[in-house]
Amino acid sequence: MSKSDFLKTIKDEDVEYVDIRFTDPRGKLQHVTVMSHEVDEDFLDEGFMFDGSSIQGWKSIDQSDMKLLPDTDSAYMDPFYAEKTLAVHCTVVEPDTGERYDRDPRGTARNAEDYLKSSGVGDNSFFGPEAEFFLFDDVRYSVEMNKVSYYVDAQDASWNTDTEYEMGNMGHRPGVKGGYFPVNPIDDGQDIRSEMLSTMKRIGMKVDKHHHEVASCQHELGMIFSSLVDQADNLQKYKYIIHNVAHAYGKSATFMPKPVAGDNGTGMHVNMSIWKDGKPLFAGDKYADLSDEALFYIGGILKHAKALNAFTNPSTNSYKRLIPGFEAPVLRAYSARNRSGCVRIPWSESPKGKRVEARFPDPSANPYLCFAALLMAGIDGIKNKIHPGEAMDKDLYDLPPEELAGIPTVCSSLREAMDELEKDHEFLLAGDVFTKSQLEGYMDLKWEEIYAYEHTPHPVEFKLYYGC
Ligand code: GLU
Ligand code: MG
Ligand code: MG
Repeated sequence: MSKSDFLKTIKDEDVEYVDIRFTDPRGKLQHVTVMSHEVDEDFLDEGFMFDGSSIQGWKSIDQSDMKLLPDTDSAYMDPFYAEKTLAVHCTVVEPDTGERYDRDPRGTARNAEDYLKSSGVGDNSFFGPEAEFFLFDDVRYSVEMNKVSYYVDAQDASWNTDTEYEMGNMGHRPGVKGGYFPVNPIDDGQDIRSEMLSTMKRIGMKVDKHHHEVASCQHELGMIFSSLVDQADNLQKYKYIIHNVAHAYGKSATFMPKPVAGDNGTGMHVNMSIWKDGKPLFAGDKYADLSDEALFYIGGILKHAKALNAFTNPSTNSYKRLIPGFEAPVLRAYSARNRSGCVRIPWSESPKGKRVEARFPDPSANPYLCFAALLMAGIDGIKNKIHPGEAMDKDLYDLPPEELAGIPTVCSSLREAMDELEKDHEFLLAGDVFTKSQLEGYMDLKWEEIYAYEHTPHPVEFKLYYGC
């Protein structure tokens, strides 16, 4: 909505509070609540001062003042607060110059949109993320699931039947990989998913469907594609609503990429397309009815995939998902048919729907940085005519070992992803979309996570080595 509509809504709807929200580098939505009588045209033009030093990875304490500039296009009535509250996503700006703060993910995403235009590659980019998630009765349940899975996993290849045996009578419950997608009562998430989707619709999001996913207690809701920043905003709303509706049902939602060993992980496939001069740039007469630009875009994604992992798969847990056998990709290959490669070209009847689907991202990603980094890799591919090689139209997991050995892979750890980003980041710096200092700050945060993880004894280690 426009600024004037925003102010009008406050008046017409008797809004008591305005919740101003922004996203930190790790991707978590943060907020501060302001009484609505404080919010006028000046407030929307000048922004709201806050202490940026308290956000991890941002300013140091000696230069902590920062400003949140509301973007009223992103506004929505909060569906959960007891008092009537209008929420709005903000971009972080420097208080003296008013310029975008270079470590603000939302600002980076805007830079990427601007760069797409200034590079001449296209006018608009569209993103359609498919973020999966698990719902657990409470957190202890998930820990319990892991115990069962770890135990069974360590046995032998017959873990599938063993798991069900271990868990007793599974009547009307989905077993390992048994979730996709019988009706209730096997699927017991129908009402909760419907409430999530309807809540999204009520706040103005464009949504279309929901379903149970392949793993037990795993779900997915469908959002219609939108432009980069708008869709990253939508993903933050999507997660917010899923977490809060789950909470209201006494459940806990998680977007962690691999919460249960031995079952499918949680992906966030990202569908992408570019439009130029009012036409879809990716439709053409090459492989799978793609254009040269679309193939080069894929070439850029595959070339930079390992550096991209730093943003698309930014948790230590991400790499427990990127293993063969669970519909998550490992190999850097593309195809119109099979789902085992990093990039798939979904079937589309009309040229308008022609898109490229990156299958390796997961929803632990900061959506602003994830989409911006993917777009930058694709633009690099188009500008430098990076050919993606031949498509791989066979099940990659069935290839003989000698053939498999020749295909490059994505990273296998967050540590590797950081090393790759260190080596390959020029494509992100083009047009000052990302900055060096931002990448350094981001990597510092991620190294903290890597050390915390690598230095902590794991339950599996107790199982394997305690008795040695
Ligand atoms: N859960 C799978 C993944 O980890 C994806 C399943 C699907 O194709 O929707 O990417
Ligand atoms: Mg899915
Ligand atoms: Mg998909």
